[in-house]
Amino acid sequence: MKIRSQVGMVLNLDKCIGCHTCSITCKQVWTSREGVEYAWFNNVETKPGIGYPKEWENQKKWRGGWLRRKDGGIEPRIGGKWRVLANIFANPDLPEIDDYYEPFTFDYQHLHTAKVSEHQPIARPRSLISGQRMKKIEWGPNWEEILGTEFAKRRKDINFEKIQADIYGQFENTFMMYLPRLCEHCLNPTCVASCPSGAIYKREEDGIVLIDQDKCRGWRMCISGCPYKKIYYNWKSGKSEKCIFCYPRIEVGQPTVCSETCVGRIRYLGVLLYDADRIKEVASSEDERDLYHRQCEIFLDPHDPEVVAQARKDGVQDNVIQAAQQSPVYKMAIDWGLALPLHPEYRTLPMVWYVPPLSPIQSAAEEGHVEFDGILPKIESLRIPVRYLANMLTAGDEKPVVLALKRMMAMRLYMRAKHVEGEGSLDAI
Ligand code: SF4
Ligand code: SF4
Repeated sequence: MKIRSQVGMVLNLDKCIGCHTCSITCKQVWTSREGVEYAWFNNVETKPGIGYPKEWENQKKWRGGWLRRKDGGIEPRIGGKWRVLANIFANPDLPEIDDYYEPFTFDYQHLHTAKVSEHQPIARPRSLISGQRMKKIEWGPNWEEILGTEFAKRRKDINFEKIQADIYGQFENTFMMYLPRLCEHCLNPTCVASCPSGAIYKREEDGIVLIDQDKCRGWRMCISGCPYKKIYYNWKSGKSEKCIFCYPRIEVGQPTVCSETCVGRIRYLGVLLYDADRIKEVASSEDERDLYHRQCEIFLDPHDPEVVAQARKDGVQDNVIQAAQQSPVYKMAIDWGLALPLHPEYRTLPMVWYVPPLSPIQSAAEEGHVEFDGILPKIESLRIPVRYLANMLTAGDEKPVVLALKRMMAMRLYMRAKHVEGEGSLDAI
């Protein structure tokens, strides 16, 4: 056993309101400059949806993540002959600017120069590429939401009223959620494995994955190799860039910018201790659907005296061990099984964990749509697409998703009884 420490993040999707404060504050600090206008180290997607960049989850198209070979080993999908050929030919498996969106700013002058009219003028979007005022925005993050209004307004040939009536007729059965995304600072990162220049590295002390800007030669194999599409090419510097988990802040004991500014207080930061010797074996597990459980096995109980002794022997500092013992990430992801990893089937062992959203169940309950199993509503009777969440968070295994939702629901009932309805009503539970 070789014990190492790793920072991680839990995001409680039940509380995300899709305000994008995290994305904006991150951009202001890290990517508000020429060359990375289109880049969002943190973005918030509307799900179900095709995401940012478009179809990032389609690994056949982008050749991201690890591939399990017949002999039981793994290699980056972008590896093998492609890696060698990339030195000669351009890497073809890259999202283009249209797969992200056309970066724009706002024409604030319009607020001053617009003619007097009945309505207040608004700052109109102006392209950061052509400099021209944009007539329409065809595509962008959260396109699925904009589609409902903008698209319908423009298409006069479509009977919008009929569609609206159909949609509203079905409204009580719809489901949507927000998925904030950042680099996963994976335990087994394909970006590192697919870089021909050896420019990407994982820090020994905290597992943060960084790109050495002096070594990067702009091959962009990492962009293909990362299954989460969380590396961006800076067209000005000719180098790749990515989320740095705000390491200058972490090093002085401060939270990441996205965590500190999150309006919904959905983000929890913490340290985990893990057995580095097991990464290869777990990442190459035969059964894809088992990858969530296998990933959890790697993490060690930081309260176990044997683990603590071994961690010290392996050079983990005492303050890091203490941080692991107080870690909300360990509690929520490993101990309680509430937070689940994003697409464990990519085999990178991602370190950003998500508490699945319960979605609004109150109105459904009031309308009598919800069936109960004792005091807890039956998950199957709620409009939560368990299969969809399982495909996203547990490689298709529905059981951990249902368990996490049930625990959330039990805690919600408990807290409501305790704080909303008064101490006495706890007896009912
Ligand atoms: Fe690398 Fe981050 Fe992508 Fe993982 S999510 S492969 S660490 S860039
Ligand atoms: Fe969600 Fe928090 Fe980001 Fe707002 S700031 S979108 S609540 S993660």
